[in-house]
Amino acid sequence: MTKLHDQGLLKNSSYWHGEWHRSNTHFNITNPASGEVIAKVADASAADAEQAVAAAHAAFADWAARPAAERSQLLMRWQQLLLDHQDDLGLLLTLEQGKPLAEAKGEIAYGASYLQWFAEEAKRVYGDTIPAKAANQRIMVLKQPVGVVAAITPWNFPNAMIARKAAAALAAGCTFVVKPAQLTPLSALALAELAHRAGIPAGVFNVIAGTDAAAIGEVLTQDARVAKFSFTGSTNIGKQLAKQCAGTVKRVSLELGGNAPFIVFADADLDAAVDGLMASKFRNAGQTCVCTNRVLVQQSVIAAFTEKLQQAISKLKIGDGTRDNVDIGPLISEDACAKVDKLLQAALKQGAKLHCGGKRQSADSLFYLPTLLSDITAEMDITQQEIFGPVVALQSFSEEAEAIARANATEFGLAAYFYSRDIGRIWRVAEGLQYGMVGINEGLISNPAAPFGGVKQSGYGREGSKYGLADYLDTKYLCLGGLDR
Ligand code: ADP
Repeated sequence: MTKLHDQGLLKNSSYWHGEWHRSNTHFNITNPASGEVIAKVADASAADAEQAVAAAHAAFADWAARPAAERSQLLMRWQQLLLDHQDDLGLLLTLEQGKPLAEAKGEIAYGASYLQWFAEEAKRVYGDTIPAKAANQRIMVLKQPVGVVAAITPWNFPNAMIARKAAAALAAGCTFVVKPAQLTPLSALALAELAHRAGIPAGVFNVIAGTDAAAIGEVLTQDARVAKFSFTGSTNIGKQLAKQCAGTVKRVSLELGGNAPFIVFADADLDAAVDGLMASKFRNAGQTCVCTNRVLVQQSVIAAFTEKLQQAISKLKIGDGTRDNVDIGPLISEDACAKVDKLLQAALKQGAKLHCGGKRQSADSLFYLPTLLSDITAEMDITQQEIFGPVVALQSFSEEAEAIARANATEFGLAAYFYSRDIGRIWRVAEGLQYGMVGINEGLISNPAAPFGGVKQSGYGREGSKYGLADYLDTKYLCLGGLDR
């Protein structure tokens, strides 16, 4: 922490109504690479969450009424501050979350790119005029902000998951309260500090950092002043929170778990497929909801593909993310390591073959070695559950139709990837995959211009693009009558 150039970015309490609020109790933030406590943060309560909602509610009318150009300018200032402080924000993120510094700085740029995108989109919230039925009527459609937005976000992208929700909400004219994951609140609080410096008015952006997720979550999902709730996290918690929102009929967006297939057809450029898989699997040590979970390789090329892949994996450098040239940091927690290990051991028992990795770097560390498994079958838990770790699980297939059917054989539908150079196949497979996002000859597909989101039990709603803004807008129909000439 002493390495931060701007110590003002290290905040240790929640922020609402433009102010920092102390608390009597605190919780520890630990560095997963070392186990060291790096900060203590004031533990906000459900009552604090209510105050934050009240602040967002009080600020809404003024914020919504400002010209879009003014909201846009403030968002632009905020994104510029993120970029100005990219090194510090990246370091803070690596220290609390573990991902390598280059990736952490990349996340800051990625978060900032949403602020920029939605600052631009804020000025393009168009309504409609519709030909009316009667000669003395006119029909118009207005787009208006939904109101106060509450969000709950996960630890794997402590900056970007907040930035991309807040950017769209604020651009639309909504005010915003977020509860970040308790493992990674420092990035969220730094975002609040920069919102403050950017001149975002009091009550427009609020952060509640606390350990009682259930109690804070009850306020955010049940308070009638909250018009929309946006969640990124696990499927089970998402389902529960969606139920809680039903009582006040909130608009809900859910970005939940995935089980991404990565299909390599025999006609693919195998080197490009290996590169794409490495990027999609090992980013953030495999801890993203769009990370490849199942790799399906056509029988005739699986031997060649496995060899190339193993070579690429052997070059990965594992270590503390603040050190130079590290590719893989620690997993987030003991539970995360134990879950990855359990899936791996079960697969081995059921006949999977281990090519490399397969264990932690040392017994008491959270570093899990990059792992390659083959001979995976559809019945194994490792095929059906989200691995969320640096483990590649290879299975083979013979026919295109079989690959599509197996890729779709999951309740999830977030991201899918495939590699092929046959244009007919590309269309058939792209249309056949039941997923919200499909990477075709690409392993990294997120960007602010594109709609991010899932189908099936991966959730609903979109983030990024014009669709992401629409999620924060109400459609109001005006019928103007009595226009007799
Ligand atoms: P993960 O397994 O990725 O940690 P979670 O769904 O448990 O996913 O966590 C995502 C976010 O949801 C975090 O901010 C966490 O604190 C929050 N959360 C967990 N349980 C609850 C709950 N019962 N009510 C509200 N929020 C919760």
